[in-house]
Amino acid sequence: MSIFEKLESEVRSYSRGWPVVFDRAVGSHLYAEDGKPYLDFFAGAGALNYGHNNPVLKQALLDYIARDGVTHALDMFTVAKRDLLETLQGNILQPRELDYKVIFPGPGGANAVEAALKLARKVTGKESVINFTNAFHGMTLGALSVTGNSMKRSGAGIPLVHATPMPYDQYFDGAYPDFLYFERLLDDSGSGLNEPAAVIVETVQGEGGINAAGMDWLRGLSDLCQRHNILLIIDDVQMGCGRTGPFFSFEDAGIKPDMVCLSKSIGGYGLPLALTLIKPELDVWEPGEHNGTFRGINPAFVTAAEALRTYWSDDELEKSTRAKGERVGAALQGIAEAYPEHGLLAKGRGLARGLEFANGEIAGQVCAAAFERGLLMETSGPDSEVAKLLPPLTVSESEVDEGLEIIDASVKAVLGK
Ligand SMILES: *Cc1c(COP(=O)(O)O)cnc(C)c1O
Repeated sequence: MSIFEKLESEVRSYSRGWPVVFDRAVGSHLYAEDGKPYLDFFAGAGALNYGHNNPVLKQALLDYIARDGVTHALDMFTVAKRDLLETLQGNILQPRELDYKVIFPGPGGANAVEAALKLARKVTGKESVINFTNAFHGMTLGALSVTGNSMKRSGAGIPLVHATPMPYDQYFDGAYPDFLYFERLLDDSGSGLNEPAAVIVETVQGEGGINAAGMDWLRGLSDLCQRHNILLIIDDVQMGCGRTGPFFSFEDAGIKPDMVCLSKSIGGYGLPLALTLIKPELDVWEPGEHNGTFRGINPAFVTAAEALRTYWSDDELEKSTRAKGERVGAALQGIAEAYPEHGLLAKGRGLARGLEFANGEIAGQVCAAAFERGLLMETSGPDSEVAKLLPPLTVSESEVDEGLEIIDASVKAVLGK
């Protein structure tokens, strides 16, 4: 029995689908300790948009460590933090005419979500939050209360309250007009719906099965929030930092959310970093009213700033992500059409793509077959029925083709054709 099986808690999950010991990683590949390469279409669940050990980011990190740059600094002013804030402002916020202040809420995505929920409740004096079917916002209690998955929710051990789920885009396959139910409840003083402080939403539900909301739906939601004086929180933890093409996944909808949660790839190098962006008028917390020890991991500031400089000074990455995404989407559509009797569905936007199978067992078998062929791909969705593709955005065209060929062969091996 390995030390992992002996000592590490049974709660571990990814290591079950990929039972090898990884050692090195470069670009789009992870290498097991025996040297076997794996093409990584998982990319740290979207934390590695710029690939593993990206050489530009690595050099910036090595230089910073070598000159004894500050590593840990709570929320003190540092040169690294100044550089990050200036780069975020200059390369991301100003060109998009977004006026946000920046909260450093702690290192993970759930920290960014908790900060947004707490602040929304403080600003509005209301408790209730609207979330959406199949949402995923993290595993801490506040974030879990707005998460859909029943297995994850049941881990809370206490009632998860103050959140009301509404149907996400296409939940009824177009049978009802968007927001018919939501707005009826808001308008009806007899509906029993508590007045919400905020709505929290992902533009593409990553963990929920790669459900991509339409731009009209997102605009409709933003308008509804404005009409009813509800704060709009976009959880861009997984779909931000260019995953769908533009830096923020909501840009194509032309909306300006009140708060935006970022984590996963914002640190650039896979180092922990999260940001909660808030409209300036929401900046009402007293000094220290929200706090935490690891809100100033300066090496992550260094790689975050370097990533924003390297990849977001022009629109090259955005364009290439859109193009690669179209290609992946078309290939998945082709696979789906090759098995009409199995009802496969190609889903997603940009380089967040999914192939939905009839059930989780088949999707799991396809991912296992892909692993045998040297490709890392996880499942998502309420019943793990969607094979999910999140390659690094820096993936080469030949790596995209290689991954798609493996997926094609894996589906063939499982569905027998
Ligand atoms: C991963 C994720 C989170 C939680 O981030 P952690 O770093 O795991 O806490 C929250 N929201 C979304 C959309 C995510 O994908």
